[in-house]
Amino acid sequence: MGLIRNFTPGPIEVSEEVLAAQYGSQALHVGSEFSKVYIRVTENLQQFFGTSGHVAVVPGCGTLANEMAVRALLDEGQTALILDAGYFSNVLKKTVEGCGAKAVLLPVPEGKPADPEMLREALFAQKIDLVCFTHVETSTGLLNPVEKLARVARDEGVPVLVDSVSALGTCPSQMDDWGVSIMTSASQKGLESVPGLGLVAVADHVWQQIEAKQSPRCGFTDILRWRDQYDAARDWHPSLTTMPVASVRALDVALRKILTEGLDTRYARHSEARDYLCRSMQVMGFEMQIQVGARAPGVTAVRAGAAFQSSDLVAALVADHSIRIAGGFGANREEVFRVAHMGDNANISALRPVVSGIKDFLSRKV
Ligand SMILES: *Cc1c(COP(=O)(O)O)cnc(C)c1O
Repeated sequence: MGLIRNFTPGPIEVSEEVLAAQYGSQALHVGSEFSKVYIRVTENLQQFFGTSGHVAVVPGCGTLANEMAVRALLDEGQTALILDAGYFSNVLKKTVEGCGAKAVLLPVPEGKPADPEMLREALFAQKIDLVCFTHVETSTGLLNPVEKLARVARDEGVPVLVDSVSALGTCPSQMDDWGVSIMTSASQKGLESVPGLGLVAVADHVWQQIEAKQSPRCGFTDILRWRDQYDAARDWHPSLTTMPVASVRALDVALRKILTEGLDTRYARHSEARDYLCRSMQVMGFEMQIQVGARAPGVTAVRAGAAFQSSDLVAALVADHSIRIAGGFGANREEVFRVAHMGDNANISALRPVVSGIKDFLSRKV
């Protein structure tokens, strides 16, 4: 079996340059050399999120970034409304409850994006202190209409948290213009780098609310401490704790590579890759899990149908083609398979072997 190529929705394949950025002597997380890299990463990330606000880059992952965001925006006993589009919406619910707040789930109809009018009605019906949803629901490949949803919440004066862990870097984000309060992400998905970093972008106008929070603040997950450290010592010690320096250097290279290609070009390439994959699957007779217009540019979920279990396809692609795709999630685990087309895999020539591998699997089935 050769080296396996990952078409999973995180971690994704990263380029040689990004891998190489991790090597070298054990670098310090203090001093001007690292500080320059760290500051460049946070400033470049502002372009990805579409904000002039502070972006905290912390050791960890997307789950931690979401927890920091929830802690920043919710007091104990308050209530968050979570648009429930699948697995990661339920992870958000656990995070909210773990922070001592209440979570109300608003189900999103299967295969469709969350409906802004449905959100408006839910906000009329009860007192809600925070609206949370995923930008892309990675378990189903749904792209939510962030701008429209955020506008409804803003009209009602409710802050908005958007989990963009799998979306950032694959599709446009304008969090300031859209009125999103906090947007989160991680290094290992659409940003095409290695795991190890959680990202929390905070719109400027939200700090007042964060500073006024009543509940006890936790040390490491308190976003205020990260911002204050950055402001006080950005030239020599910009982070609160020891950083995984190698992951920061890798992300720095990944972001600069992406910006050299240009964000608009990159987003268009991801959408084309998605369209190619969907067309190819439909030609083979498959149905997509998400309706046209709401399909994520970085990951596609395909209904396997009754002919086979998706775990058989996943295993066959690894064994016969050294390609790894993903199965479904939860109740749909065996009925759905997912192909990520992010980063260097977001182009037709990279996806062709996946399509022909699936064809090969089908031809052996009959
Ligand atoms: C992957 C993912 C997460 C979790 O990120 P980790 O870095 O694994 O903690 C959260 N939300 C979404 C939408 C994701 O795709």
